[in-house]
Amino acid sequence: MAFFNENYTKLSESYLFATIEQRVNAYKKANPDKKVISLGIGDVTRPLPQVCLNAMHAAVDEMGSAETFRGYGPYEGYAFLRDAIAEGDFRSRGIDISADEIFVSDGAKSDTGNIGDIFGPENVVAITDPVYPVYIDTNVMAGRTVKIIPCEEANGFAPLPPSFHADIVYLCSPNNPTGSVLNKRQLADWVTYAKANHAVILYDAAYERFITEDEIPHSIFEIEGAKSCAIEFRSFSKTAGFTGTRCGYAVIPKELTLTAGGETFPAHKLWLRHQSTKYNGTSYIIQRGAAAVFTPEGRKEVAELIDDYLENARIIREGLLAAGFSCSGGVNAPYIWLKCPQGLSSWELFDELLNKASVVGTPGAGFGEKGEGFFRLTSFGSRGDTVEAVQRIEQAFK
Ligand SMILES: *Cc1c(COP(=O)(O)O)cnc(C)c1O
Repeated sequence: MAFFNENYTKLSESYLFATIEQRVNAYKKANPDKKVISLGIGDVTRPLPQVCLNAMHAAVDEMGSAETFRGYGPYEGYAFLRDAIAEGDFRSRGIDISADEIFVSDGAKSDTGNIGDIFGPENVVAITDPVYPVYIDTNVMAGRTVKIIPCEEANGFAPLPPSFHADIVYLCSPNNPTGSVLNKRQLADWVTYAKANHAVILYDAAYERFITEDEIPHSIFEIEGAKSCAIEFRSFSKTAGFTGTRCGYAVIPKELTLTAGGETFPAHKLWLRHQSTKYNGTSYIIQRGAAAVFTPEGRKEVAELIDDYLENARIIREGLLAAGFSCSGGVNAPYIWLKCPQGLSSWELFDELLNKASVVGTPGAGFGEKGEGFFRLTSFGSRGDTVEAVQRIEQAFK
């Protein structure tokens, strides 16, 4: 008999997006004349930068000739991309990360989900609430104990190091769903916590490119001592529109070690073993496209993309404030975190926005208990839709 992994029965079923779709469809059926606008989109909508397309077209042609054909690539990614990342995302910002500490992947979801494979089942894992659900679900699948770190409005939704012990901590900054960011002092407190607990911080920086304020760290490795206690994850998804193209990377410093059964191993070596066993590399064509992001033209095109989304975020944020709502985020992040007015629950606000303004967002309760009473709006829609949605909300709620 084949037994299934019983941990899968402990996963909480997520009905979030299915329920949203149901309610929106029912509303559309009852109101066929109304144009529904979604500010709930968790995916980018602008097309890929031209420079990435050109690089991928050229790479496709290389595949068609015996002299330039590529078969299996290196498990950890091609040197041209790892070098470009180390220089473009770290060294040029004064952060000491070398190309051989970078592992190219098909995205940050697989990396943050798979990294647990190098950690034993006995680790206690601390995860923030509200949260990107991947962190919790992958640890439940692995049978690990998960402890929750509540993120409070009073603290700007920044997670504070808990009083309990944890071996692994997941942090996400800029944050999905709250749009909050961790500053240098807060990150330094986390590094101190990790050192005191011999813990590892798994730092999800998928939205790093949205940071505009000078004092906000782009990488946990800007914090002294982080190289011996942290792994960082990045993605080209929200940076350059690669959500469907697929490319990301993990940074595992060589000095980060893990211990078990009296033995100590570099995490770097364990992850290489993982990737070489379970992964055959990101497509050469895609890696060429990702490397183009680091060219001067690529930087310019990506900056324009991000500025465009951030302008949407500003329009949403300022419009909501003008309409009397209270909200945060939307400055160094594409997400606006709206406080439900008059004690409404997040699903009640969902219905109000839909019925009064034909606007769709995401109830905070879908991201954890602490998300109740809040609501996520995203800046990934078109400019026209964003402006219209905000005008409708202002009219309906002013
Ligand atoms: C979108 C997102 C990612 C990126 O996922 P990819 O697999 O790289 O597309 C990672 N973390 C968070 C919190 C996200 O919202």
